[in-house]
Amino acid sequence: MQSGEGPSEKLTFQLTLRRRGISDRAVLRAMEEVPRDLFVEPEDRDVAWRDTALAIACGQTISQPFVVAYMTEQLQLKPEHDVLEVGTGSGYQAAILSRLCRSVLTVERFRTLADRARARLERAGCGNVEVRVADGLNLPPEIGQFDRIIVTAAMAGIPASLTDRLAPGGILVAPVGPAGGRQTLVRVQRNDDGLSRRDLVDVRFVPALPGLAREM
Ligand code: SAH
Repeated sequence: MQSGEGPSEKLTFQLTLRRRGISDRAVLRAMEEVPRDLFVEPEDRDVAWRDTALAIACGQTISQPFVVAYMTEQLQLKPEHDVLEVGTGSGYQAAILSRLCRSVLTVERFRTLADRARARLERAGCGNVEVRVADGLNLPPEIGQFDRIIVTAAMAGIPASLTDRLAPGGILVAPVGPAGGRQTLVRVQRNDDGLSRRDLVDVRFVPALPGLAREM
């Protein structure tokens, strides 16, 4: 039997997400519907539905499904939301987001990853996602404002160039902490009287690096 495609693997996947506390039905449905096996490297297809992070090209990783579901749940997405993702990687997180909001702009510093993610997102039928090669730590104001922002690479701190992109009432979720050290998922909300911050759970992400990758 091909374990990557067996119904029992997908069932276990859903049960694991529920057992770990994911309860938002729309998020669970998106996690069930997006084919994770399309976003992992070909040699990892048979373990695509396991709840683990996996290596992708350019020394990066596709996040653990539980973390993808948890961060998505924390964003409290609505169908009319425009979302920014920093750190396209495989494109998997963007595919999950795309089912729950109006539009996703996802930026990646490696051209190779951006090109591959764009092709996968097209194959997965995610027509409302735009993939751009850009430095998410230094986005120009012209990029506009977003109802939700998700960062999927660990930052030393959350730069104003990102919180400035949050629309009123907007929510940002990002891992904050040193590379390889203790990182905490942080949720920032833009309220009438400024920004409020809440620490959620400890996580482990590859670091956010400044500038476009020289080796693309
Ligand atoms: N969300 C991805 C996982 C991303 S791993 C997925 O679902 O597969 C983190 C990604 O962030 C890596 O691809 C890395 O190259 C990218 N990244 C790191 N620093 C960045 C920056 N400053 N701007 C844009 N992307 C960045």
